[in-house]
Amino acid sequence: MPKRLIIAIDGPAGAGKSTIARRIAARVGATYIDTGAMYRAVALWAMRSSIPLEDPVRLEALSRNAHIQFAHGHQRVQLNGEDVTDAIRTPEVAEAASVVAAVPGVRRAMVDLQRAMAAKTSVVMEGRDIGSIVFPNADIKIFLDANTEIRAQRRAEDLTAQQIPFDLETLRKQIEERDFRDRNRAASPLMQPLDATYLDSSHLSPHEVEEEILKIVRAKTSNGKELVH
Ligand code: C5P
Repeated sequence: MPKRLIIAIDGPAGAGKSTIARRIAARVGATYIDTGAMYRAVALWAMRSSIPLEDPVRLEALSRNAHIQFAHGHQRVQLNGEDVTDAIRTPEVAEAASVVAAVPGVRRAMVDLQRAMAAKTSVVMEGRDIGSIVFPNADIKIFLDANTEIRAQRRAEDLTAQQIPFDLETLRKQIEERDFRDRNRAASPLMQPLDATYLDSSHLSPHEVEEEILKIVRAKTSNGKELVH
C-alpha cells in the first residue's frame, strides 16, 4: 500500500490556490479538498436561516449539523444534499464566510470534517490553516501568495466567468478586508508555518507554479516517480 500523502496549500484569497491545488491533485493522484468552500457553505446556510453572524453558539450548532460533501470528482459542493457550488461563490458569501470562520466552534467542526476526509486517501487540501492546524505534520506545506492587485484581478476574472456582477475597486477593498480579518483573528489565523515553502505566484503562470510544487513533491517522495504522473 503506498503511503498516504498530505499536501497543504495555504494563502490569502486570490493567490491561485484552487487552480493549483486541483492541478497538483490530478498530477499526484490525490483527492482535492477546498476547505474555503466548507466555510462558505456554513455561511450560506447561516444567511439563509437568518442566523446572526455575531451569534457563535448558534453558528457552532449549525456547523455541526451541516452535511457538507464534495461530489463529482470533488468538483461540486453539496450542503444538506443540495448542490451549492455556484451559490457559495458570491462576494456576499465570501464576506460572511470569513466572519463565521473566525468562530472557534465553527472551526472545530470543519477541522474534524477535514481530518475525516483525509483519513483514507492522499489529499491536496487548500485553505488558511491546513499546514498550521489541520495537518501540522503534512508531508508538504506550501504558502501561496500574490500581490493584492493581481489577486483582485484574478477574482474579477473568476466573477466575470461566472457572470456575477462586481466593481473592481470594491472587490479590491473586500479582498483586503477579508485578508486582514483572516490574518488577525484569534482562532487559527492565516499565517505561513515555519516549515512551509513560500511561493509568490504574482508573475508566474499556473503551469510554472505547478512545476515548482511538483519539484518539491518529487524531492520529498524519494523522487516521486510513482506518485507524480
Ligand atoms: O478560500 P476561500 O476564499 O473560498 O475562503 C473563504 C473564507 O473561508 C476565507 O476568507 C477564510 O475566512 C475562510 N477559511 C478559513 N480557513 C480555511 C479556509 C477558508 O478560515 N482553511
